[in-house]
Amino acid sequence: MTDNIATYREVAIAAVREASVICRAVQQQLVSSQSMAKKDKSPVTIADYASQAVVCAKLTEMLSTDQAIVGEEDAASLRTAEGAGLCKMVVEQVQAVRNEPVDEQTVLQWIDMGAAAGDTERYWTLDPIDGTKGFLRKEQYAVALALIENGVVVLGLLGCPNLEGGQLLVAQQGKGTELLPLFDSDSTQGVLQSVSQITRTAEARFCESVESGHSDQDQSVAIAKRLAITQPPVRMDSQAKYATLAQGQSQIYLRLPTRVGYREKIWDHAAGMLVVQEAGGTVTDIVGKPLDFTHGRQLEENQGLIATNGPIHDQVVEAVEAIFTAP
Ligand code: AMP
Ligand code: MG
Repeated sequence: MTDNIATYREVAIAAVREASVICRAVQQQLVSSQSMAKKDKSPVTIADYASQAVVCAKLTEMLSTDQAIVGEEDAASLRTAEGAGLCKMVVEQVQAVRNEPVDEQTVLQWIDMGAAAGDTERYWTLDPIDGTKGFLRKEQYAVALALIENGVVVLGLLGCPNLEGGQLLVAQQGKGTELLPLFDSDSTQGVLQSVSQITRTAEARFCESVESGHSDQDQSVAIAKRLAITQPPVRMDSQAKYATLAQGQSQIYLRLPTRVGYREKIWDHAAGMLVVQEAGGTVTDIVGKPLDFTHGRQLEENQGLIATNGPIHDQVVEAVEAIFTAP
């Protein structure tokens, strides 16, 4: 017997919740002002690997067939002599959340389950910590998990530990986007969300990356001006940007390429895209093309990204076309 979509949804919810508990614990325990000052990236590395391990473990253990998972990480560096210390800390975090002893080889195998190429009919894509810079600054980050069938995103989940005490957004194709508590809850039914209904861009609030290397912040100022937007941009790391749009708290998310040839990664957008679409919004690339999830690990046929509440989408695409000069 194969699992149905309701089962996939429930297992995905449990997986994202478990990964989020790890991320929150590591952030609380290990991200100190000292580690930030030293530019020590190890906390995020530990949480990244441990998050991927528990998500892959859950999907594999709870579903009846083998799962293809396109994850951002692989365990190669943890298997080296230099990686031994980190590996031990990853295993500790996995054991703590699963509340059982787990051996190192098992954890490494779980992480490496995320090595799929995304060339099968059905696959998951996982960003175990999206927005690593935000994680280290103790700001926004997300655990993002999506299920893709024949190029269509059918499930999208965003665990956002630092959005209002912990928000979980769950989108299912054709069924809407629900908001659930991320922590201390087993509930799998949430409250349906919908995007803002504004039709005039002048009223819009737009969001973009904190990192100017991820989206051109000079050109977004000019685009906002053309759209008569007066509110300052909301700068936020990770797919939490999609989460705010789906809840009607912002109306535009712009991601304007800063580098020639950069291709967006599927795990950075699949979950967020469905979360916004199922809440009534629209997501395309910067020329208005739908995102194409049929080219493996990257969005090879797309450049940048525009997400909106919907009614203002064409106006935003037009403004980007008029102003934006690609790198
Ligand atoms: P954000 O938090 O929205 O700035 O996005 C974080 C994501 O940006 C990471 O998961 C990276 O995969 C992605 N990223 C890395 N370099 C670039 C780049 N040059 N342009 C756009 N996105 C990037
Ligand atoms: Mg990411």
